[in-house]
Amino acid sequence: MATSCKICAAPSELYGVVDLNKPCEIPGGTRPPLSGVPVYYRRCPSCGFLFTDAFDDWSEDQFKTHIYNDGYHVFDPDYQTARPNGNAGIVANLWTAHKAGMRVLDFGGGNDVFCTSLRANGFLEAVTYDPMVPEFSSRPEGKFDLVTCFETLEHLPDPVAGIERIVDCVAEPGAVFYSTLTQPADFDKQGVGWWYVGPRNGHISIFTKQALTLAWARHGFKTAALSDGIHLAFRTLPEKWGMKVS
Ligand SMILES: [Zn+2]
Repeated sequence: MATSCKICAAPSELYGVVDLNKPCEIPGGTRPPLSGVPVYYRRCPSCGFLFTDAFDDWSEDQFKTHIYNDGYHVFDPDYQTARPNGNAGIVANLWTAHKAGMRVLDFGGGNDVFCTSLRANGFLEAVTYDPMVPEFSSRPEGKFDLVTCFETLEHLPDPVAGIERIVDCVAEPGAVFYSTLTQPADFDKQGVGWWYVGPRNGHISIFTKQALTLAWARHGFKTAALSDGIHLAFRTLPEKWGMKVS
């Protein structure tokens, strides 16, 4: 039976199945044992979005027990410091001329490494907001010139609701600088065997560029791909940034 695409509502059939323990990359070459829990993905014939309803009813506790547990960092070794520091370098570089007046919110960052680096770099304000991490789970007040959101959308069972929460934090004019890898041209050949499809890593919503465009458009946002993994979404870009994005 078909289920409505979570992005565009087109009827979507089952597409593939993997074990709950399938990670994105195999750490140290040792494949984790199978869990015996199948995770079925569907793919939208219209926008190409790959999704599963397997986690739609999961509580925060279930996510913490089965995915974001003590073993999680083994499957995502860059999560704690390498990725946030790398991302902070990119953002500091792109906005260096404007940082002294910029308020930045990092959505879904998990720890404060990224924002600590931006503050050390001279950004007016940089705060972490992550509903899954108790320390950072209260929503900072006000709107932010730049909201960053790295490797988060693919983790959300309801990405449209997640994007709504992000949009709610963005000043107008303002922008969202975010990353999520979009499906490669030969995705149909690779299917759910594609490395980025990995429930053990919490990768449960896999976008195409078209699915991203549709999801942001619901809030009047455009999204532009700066690469296959890095994107900028906005209604109106601050003129003083002088960014030409189409
Ligand atoms: Zn769709």
